[in-house]
Amino acid sequence: MTMIFVDAAVSSPLDVFSEDAVSDQVDISGHLTSTFDDVVENAIFEHPTLVMDVNRVEQQYYALKAGLGGADIHYAVKANPAPEIIERLVKLGSHFDAASRGEIELVLGAGASPSDVSFGNTIKRASDIAYAHAAGVTLFSADAIEEIEKIAQHAPGAQVYIRLIVESSEADWPLSRKFGCDRDMAIDLLDRARALGLDPVGLSFHVGSQTRKASMWGPTLDEMVKIWDAAKEAGHALSLLNIGGGFPAFYGQDIEAPTDYAASVMDQVRSRFGEVARVMAEPGRGLVAEAGAIVAEVMLVSRKSSRDLHRWVYLSIGRFSGLAETEGEAIRYQITTLRDDDPVGPCVLAGPSCDSADVLYEKQPVLLPMTLKSGDRIVIRNCGAYTSSYSSVGFNGFPPLDVLVI
Ligand SMILES: *Cc1c(COP(=O)(O)O)cnc(C)c1O
Repeated sequence: MTMIFVDAAVSSPLDVFSEDAVSDQVDISGHLTSTFDDVVENAIFEHPTLVMDVNRVEQQYYALKAGLGGADIHYAVKANPAPEIIERLVKLGSHFDAASRGEIELVLGAGASPSDVSFGNTIKRASDIAYAHAAGVTLFSADAIEEIEKIAQHAPGAQVYIRLIVESSEADWPLSRKFGCDRDMAIDLLDRARALGLDPVGLSFHVGSQTRKASMWGPTLDEMVKIWDAAKEAGHALSLLNIGGGFPAFYGQDIEAPTDYAASVMDQVRSRFGEVARVMAEPGRGLVAEAGAIVAEVMLVSRKSSRDLHRWVYLSIGRFSGLAETEGEAIRYQITTLRDDDPVGPCVLAGPSCDSADVLYEKQPVLLPMTLKSGDRIVIRNCGAYTSSYSSVGFNGFPPLDVLVI
């Protein structure tokens, strides 16, 4: 195996500390020309590192866009805020869904136009609303009277859309009742927005993250169109439907191809809503998850007693350093090792920190090679979404997840 030493603190072009045989992979300026796969398989990293393939993000953007047709893609920045990804998406003409001042600064700094940025968090600081308004952002979300009042005060005249609660989620990672309001409240909010001089343009919802099948959108869209029609009857000429995220990534269970999935969602939207002037989609996971892999290592393989059925495999990455979505074992990442040709057996998979919650998979054990041992390289596939952005700054002295974009 060719060893490539990469300083992950430096993103592309890669700085390479070459050993013997890397010269064939280094161009005349001394920079690595290696592909994503080469880096994921061969590069030596000091710490667990998320390697992102920005060309793969581009490919996925076009695939989703092909299915979404006239709908605007507002990338949900929180899924992966790496500046190289934001910059590429700006070049491709993507719009953005930002959740905070920090995310707005990030996308504007990468060249996004403020008119292409929506401030989609329903829980915003008043000073962040004022900042966004001053920066030229004109579209805000709300699900509460007090939020409407904050927006009216700090972003007078802005466009607002109302987020609805979705009860019918079949998502692997549902977004619960934290966001949204019910139908009657939504109409009150539209009225209130208009009374306060805002421009109430539409409605939004989120079917829940990792909604594996497009057909699972049906019940939610059925609910939404009733509210849409009720709002129209109440005198609101709505022009904006924000269908949120939920577009899935491959984690081992079958999913539809992104273009087919997006086209099917749009068909379902059209058949219920007819022609809506402006449809927004906010993919996060579906745009970036499959473009990333984490390179980490095995720290320890052990048994708790000589009669223990399962091995415990402890990795250098865990719940607090990027794998938060293993909570409830909801998202099951694909793990590959250099020993995948050897016989496999079940194990409990855990992270390295001194917190008993830092167990990744236990209820449903993971099959890994019986020969696995400490120091082995492991690769966690399709984890470009909600990993770097969920990594703690240094719980237990473990550094946050390094990110390398190529
Ligand atoms: C997180 C989020 C998204 C992205 O959801 P995915 O399931 O990752 O596509 C979209 N819209 C809003 C408002 C969000 O909070």
